[in-house]
Amino acid sequence: MLVKRAMDILLDEIRDIGRLRSIQELLDWDQQVCMPPKGVHARAEQVGLLAGLVHDRLTSKRVGDALAALDAPTGDPVVDTNVRETRRAYERAVKVPGDLVRQLAQTSTRAHEAWERARREDEFATFAPFLERLVDLRRRVAECIGYDGEPYDALLDEYEPGMSTAQVAELFAALRRGLVPLVQAIAGAARRPDASILRRRYPIDAQRELVLAISRAMGFDFEAGRLDVSTHPFTSGACPGDVRFTTRYDERFLPSALFGAMHEVGHGLYQQGLSTEHMFTPMGEAVSLGIHESQSRLWENVVGRSAAFWRHWYAGVRNRFPEALKDVEPQEFVGAVNAVSASFIRVEADEVTYNLHIILRFELEREIFQGRLAVSDVPQAWNAKCTELLGITPPDDRRGCLQDIHWSMGAFGYFPTYALGNLYAAQFHAAARQAISDLDDRIAAGDLGTLLSWLRANIHRHGQRFRASELVENVTGRPLGVASFLDYVRDKVAPFYGLD
Ligand code: ZN
Repeated sequence: MLVKRAMDILLDEIRDIGRLRSIQELLDWDQQVCMPPKGVHARAEQVGLLAGLVHDRLTSKRVGDALAALDAPTGDPVVDTNVRETRRAYERAVKVPGDLVRQLAQTSTRAHEAWERARREDEFATFAPFLERLVDLRRRVAECIGYDGEPYDALLDEYEPGMSTAQVAELFAALRRGLVPLVQAIAGAARRPDASILRRRYPIDAQRELVLAISRAMGFDFEAGRLDVSTHPFTSGACPGDVRFTTRYDERFLPSALFGAMHEVGHGLYQQGLSTEHMFTPMGEAVSLGIHESQSRLWENVVGRSAAFWRHWYAGVRNRFPEALKDVEPQEFVGAVNAVSASFIRVEADEVTYNLHIILRFELEREIFQGRLAVSDVPQAWNAKCTELLGITPPDDRRGCLQDIHWSMGAFGYFPTYALGNLYAAQFHAAARQAISDLDDRIAAGDLGTLLSWLRANIHRHGQRFRASELVENVTGRPLGVASFLDYVRDKVAPFYGLD
């Protein structure tokens, strides 16, 4: 087959696969936001049909033959990126037998129910047999796909392509060395911000107006997206012209909607910034979960919890919530949104302790897949690590190993991407600050567009042209490390806790 002809066939196929996936996104959004409960059975059939169509199209002889004809790089970055990423997806899909995929889907549906019950009743034993089965199935998937170092590599690669377990272990070990003493210093600090001001009464209508105003100021295009409410906030990106994010409101806790929305808008800006020209192909898709998360964390934490950001926004927020904030000075508010304290639940963790929650999960997952930790020993191992890393011991498994949904979905290797997102975010931000010398002043003056333009030019528009490791080196001039994050987080919290 001629290279040109093979590329045309491949493009046709991957665009259709991309279109099918965007329909899956819409169905998923609908299910989480507005589907009536009785729609669930028909939805399961619709989703099952689409998943089958995607798998059949991706593993078809047409795609296989086209890829075989495209075995040499062409030198055209668009073609080479699309071929490289399609080959990767094709190989992962053809190597795993359909029967194993079906067993995984069925087991995780049942595991999800068992996990919900186990968590409700605080009874790990209810979930343990399902977890054991999922680990076994995922181990078989890893064996089918193959790996260089250890089985966990094959799992991690699904979410963070190109990153190895050994690399993550090295980054996390360095992070741990920096964070554990910081958490201890904070626990022993004489001074601390008063975070209780965030638990006063914040009327929901005013919260919604604030979320919309900040989302617009961040550059989210509401002609190409929308905001809704859902139990678990998320962002769904069917295509750059249709990006939907959700949030949830808690009248007694302002950060839930405010920072939750800034997080999702960060994801949404990435989706809206992807190339329309390359829509439905890898050149028009996000690099990895870690890079996606870097965009959300950058806006939520690095920008959203900065003193500069609140120099512009605080007066307006105080006007919206005159009762709650009448006696709160700007500096106190910034301190409150940056308060640090070790807690059991990952999703409620602050910026300093968050990564320790991830390190805990990564270390346990790795030991499980190395065969060094039995599923039945997970609760004790969890509690021991929590004590070691955070200095607190969960009183029950609900606040320990049963808190997260991921394992019930068989999603092992996913957690590290959250912490990688924080590391990428800090390193990108340091580079942006170097490139734009007055970045903080601009943010303090209400200009968020300069930062967005920089992210668009350096990250969003490239789609999957570069792997995460390459992108980081291109943008920041060095490989991913922990220094930017540790410097950033220490500088930020030190004044509020009187640390030097
Ligand atoms: Zn996120």
